[in-house]
Amino acid sequence: MNIRFDGKRALVTGAGKGIGRDVVKKLVECGAETIALSRTQSDLDSLKQECPSIIPVLCDLADSESISTALKDCGPIDLLVNNAAIAICESFFDANTADFDKTFDINVKATIVVSQIVAKGMIERKAGGSIVNVSSQASLRGLKNHLIYAASKAAVDSVTRTMSLELGPHNIRTNAVNPTVTNTAMAKVGWSDPVKVKAMTSLIPLGRFAEVSEVVSVILFLLSDFSSMVSGSCVPIDGGCVAS
Ligand code: NDP
Repeated sequence: MNIRFDGKRALVTGAGKGIGRDVVKKLVECGAETIALSRTQSDLDSLKQECPSIIPVLCDLADSESISTALKDCGPIDLLVNNAAIAICESFFDANTADFDKTFDINVKATIVVSQIVAKGMIERKAGGSIVNVSSQASLRGLKNHLIYAASKAAVDSVTRTMSLELGPHNIRTNAVNPTVTNTAMAKVGWSDPVKVKAMTSLIPLGRFAEVSEVVSVILFLLSDFSSMVSGSCVPIDGGCVAS
C-alpha cells in the first residue's frame, strides 16, 4: 500500500514527542504539507531541524481560548490528527477535580475545539477530509489507577462517533485509534514497574506492548483514501487485548 498525501495539508497536535512526532515525520515523507502543534518550543525546534518543511505552531491546548489564535494563519487543512493528551495515573479515591479538569481540558475539550475549527474550514471549502482522534485501549477495558485518563478517552470515543454522524454528510470521515501501551515517554508514567508490565502483557494475546510505528501506520491508513468507507470507528491497536 503506497500512501501518498501530495497536495494535502495536515495538522497534528501533540507533535513534539512520541506518537505525534512520528506521525508528523511520516506525513511529511508521504508528501503532506504538515503543521506540527505542540507546547514545548525546543521540541518543535528539533522537529523542524529533522523535517524542515513543517510549519511549527506553539500552543498550549489547555488554554482553549488560545487555540483559534494559534490556528488562524494555518490555512486550509485536509487531514487532522488530534493526538495531544496527558495521562495522570490515579486510583478512584485519589482522583481529584483539579486533575479531572486539567485532563478533560486537554484530552477532550481541545479535541473538540480544534476539530470544530478545522471541520468548519473543510465544510466551507466543500473539500471533505479525514480526522483521526488518538484514544486508548483504556477507554475499552477497565484499568486500575487510570480513572480520569480512561474516562477522558471514553469521551474521545464518544466525540468521535458524534463527529462521524454530523460531519459524514460533508464527506469528512472521523475515526479513533485505541492503542495499547506504546513505548513512548507517556508509557513510562504508568508502566515502569515490571510487575505491572507483566500483568498487562499477559492480557495481550500477542504478548507485548505496541511500537510507535505500529500506531502511526494505522493513523496514516485512516487518514488516507485506502480507508474511504471507514468512519465512526474506534480501532484497537492492542494485539488482541480488547478481544480477550
Ligand atoms: P507523549 O507524552 O510522549 O507526547 C505527547 C505530546 O503531546 C507531547 O509533545 C506533549 O508536549 C504534547 N502535549 C501534551 N499536552 C499538550 C498541550 N496541552 N498542548 C499542546 N501539546 C500538548 O505521549 P504519547 O506519544 O505516548 O501519546 C500520544 C497519544 O497517544 C495520546 O493521546 C495518548 O493518550 C495516546 N496513547 C498513548 C499510549 C502510550 O502508551 N504511550 C497508549 C494509548 C494511547 P509536552 O511534552 O511539551 O507536554
